[in-house]
Amino acid sequence: MSALSDLQATRDPSRKSWVESANEPRHDFSIQNLPFGIFSDSHDDARRAGVAIGDEIVDLSVLHAAGLLTVPAKADVFARDSLNDFIALGRDAWRSVRIQLSNLLARDTSTLRDNAALRGKALVRRADARLHLPVQIPGYTDFYSSKEHATNVGSMFRDLKNALLPNWSEMPIGYNGRASSVVVSGTPVRRPNGQLKLPDQERPVFGACRKLDIELETGFVIGGGNALGEPIACADAEAHIFGMVLLNDWSARDIQQWEYVPLGPFNAKTFATTISPWIVTLDALEPFRVAQPQQEPRPLAYLRHDGEHAFDIALEVALRPQGAKEATTIARTNFRHMYWTMAQQLAHHTVSGCNTRVGDLMGSGTISGPTDDSYGSLLELTWNGKKPLELKEGGTRSFIEDGDELTLAGWCQGDGYRVGFGSCVGEILPARG
Ligand code: CA
Repeated sequence: MSALSDLQATRDPSRKSWVESANEPRHDFSIQNLPFGIFSDSHDDARRAGVAIGDEIVDLSVLHAAGLLTVPAKADVFARDSLNDFIALGRDAWRSVRIQLSNLLARDTSTLRDNAALRGKALVRRADARLHLPVQIPGYTDFYSSKEHATNVGSMFRDLKNALLPNWSEMPIGYNGRASSVVVSGTPVRRPNGQLKLPDQERPVFGACRKLDIELETGFVIGGGNALGEPIACADAEAHIFGMVLLNDWSARDIQQWEYVPLGPFNAKTFATTISPWIVTLDALEPFRVAQPQQEPRPLAYLRHDGEHAFDIALEVALRPQGAKEATTIARTNFRHMYWTMAQQLAHHTVSGCNTRVGDLMGSGTISGPTDDSYGSLLELTWNGKKPLELKEGGTRSFIEDGDELTLAGWCQGDGYRVGFGSCVGEILPARG
């Protein structure tokens, strides 16, 4: 088969796997998905690369050693504690590995299916595995690309008339975030301390954040960087993206409101950013490509691209108080509402000549939809605490309390299968005294 028809076969909705759990119609990790991550387990605490399939993880290092996975590298790029060396091999290599895995895991392929000894070594139950940060992240940038979110925040922090500043409609606004505090799903997050400016006092006080919030975002991971001084054209930008994750940009709203003028958020955002452990490739997301919202005014030439560049990704946020059995879903929205596309974000990021590197993480910005149950932050959902949310097992929330566990989920719904992201979870610990 040609490379193109091999690639198309990986997205065939009728393709099933001999890993039966992957064939459940609502499972995030179908054979059409095959997201990459880094894991270890109780038998082997060495971190290595894996791909999620149903309730299992395929150990890529084992397959490579058995000669079942061909990559254009002499060394075993899968026996690493990050995906960076694999990603650095380039898009043809990622695409080829995903095609080889799809073929190996397809129901009719006996090579691994009927080799019990090798299968026993190559498949690890996800429930027995520990997941780690999938990439070593040299740099993290966060954008602000949802028109609904920017309008909501602008009308609360300023006023309705000046909600959207004039530059917002001309460029994907962003800022340089903090890569060192990006953590993988499941890592507890400590409530930050900082400067708080109370409305009835002239000077700030120092103390624990009282308005701790989430930001529902996705992130994309740079797969092919650019050299210093050489921008990435908007039309070429998607070829530089390895894949996407869910991202929670934890935010201390009271710290933010006091510190953000004139240079933007600092302590309000630097204490933690949580990402989901599995990177879903753009090759897996391709069937879910949809048109981005109409852009008016027409963007400047360097921000133009033909065709469709948004993706239909359903997103949800759930909150579970400490000790509660059930979580309450507090927001439902979709990535397709984003005004600026990932390609435009990357073109804008690099147009100054700024370089990017393999593993760089780019946050979408909070993803808010048009209705008041589709907002991607508590700030918007409760309108800065004025309309507290009711929780399933009683009680209300204006902002996050200690012991609350917040979970982001996301998936693309195909015909009888899903391409999902898994979850992005964090529990809040009390501030340091
Ligand atoms: Ca953000």
